[in-house]
Amino acid sequence: MEAIKALGVDIKTGVTVGRDVTISDLRERGYRAFFLAIGAHQNISLNIPGEDLEGVVDAISLLFALNLKVGASVGSNVVVIGGGNSAVDSARTAKRRSKGVVRILYRRTAEEMTAVRDEVEEAINEGISIEYLTSPVEILGDGTKVTGIRCQRMKMGEMEADGRRRPEPIPGSEFVIDADHVVIAIGQRPNTSLLNIRWLEIDSDDATIKVEPLTLETRIPGIFAGGDCVTGPNNVVEAVATGLQAAESIDRYLRGRDLRKGRSPEKPQPVEIDVSERDASHYKRARMPATPPYKRMGRLEEIA
Ligand SMILES: Cc1cc2nc3c(=O)[nH]c(=O)nc-3n(C[C@H](O)[C@H](O)[C@H](O)COP(=O)(O)OP(=O)(O)OC[C@H]3O[C@@H](n4cnc5c(N)ncnc54)[C@H](O)[C@@H]3O)c2cc1C
Repeated sequence: MEAIKALGVDIKTGVTVGRDVTISDLRERGYRAFFLAIGAHQNISLNIPGEDLEGVVDAISLLFALNLKVGASVGSNVVVIGGGNSAVDSARTAKRRSKGVVRILYRRTAEEMTAVRDEVEEAINEGISIEYLTSPVEILGDGTKVTGIRCQRMKMGEMEADGRRRPEPIPGSEFVIDADHVVIAIGQRPNTSLLNIRWLEIDSDDATIKVEPLTLETRIPGIFAGGDCVTGPNNVVEAVATGLQAAESIDRYLRGRDLRKGRSPEKPQPVEIDVSERDASHYKRARMPATPPYKRMGRLEEIA
């Protein structure tokens, strides 16, 4: 942040574009080009009964509260639903603050989990259990608070269009587990409605902002977009790369130059490199030293 400020960038925090200030306001103040990089922070819900019970939260709210709010607490029987990075981060963060049990329910198998593999291993080392091939059917409560989850066992079925096999329920396999805190972490989508920008083209399936892939310009001249709000939940490296791509477009736009000339839509491709055994190291990849799992509990410091 300091390096960016040193370049002369003025950063205003605590401002929601669309609510506190609009793009039209900013245009009136003389700004001529805009880059939308609002991420994908709106939680996708499970659409099962009981999601509105006290003690049921989404991953982003849980992480926000535990990282930033003083006095935020977690239950003693936490169940996280999902298999991606936000599920594993939520479970590991909850485990550091919980005196009890934290487990993850995932409807597919370990191979299909989209979370970073090392993070999954660390979660298991920290005492988090993962129930694979398990899907929630109903969140149970006492009328106010969550008390458990009715689950069902799944089996892997036919291959789907995305190359992953579809999980299918096993009839008669329902069972109930106790829970006093349930975290829903099955994915997020961009919250574009908050932006309040008319004419922005939004994908009706996943709520991402549609852009011209080469320039990242939206269908409104001078408004560009990139990162998770265009790709859907992705990763830091690819989000940062779109920042660079948009900066090139914005620079051309402000100078009145052609946004496309000399640019290629082709992404860098991996190439095979012939490394002879003689050149390769005989040492195994070094493991980063890390704080042992028992010393990580009760705090949220970096572990490596
Ligand atoms: C729990 C979790 C764990 C993850 N773990 C990893 C990981 O291990 N490795 C990895 O590479 N990636 C990980 N990711 C993904 C990674 O965080 C994202 O791909 C990346 O941060 C996307 O960058 P972005 O700039 O598009 O959006 P973000 O980094 O999400 O930033 C968007 C910003 O815009 C702000 N914003 C939203 N709406 C408005 C508005 N209307 N006005 C003003 N500001 C607004 C948001 O508050 C936020 O600060 C993880 C994501 C999550 C949720």
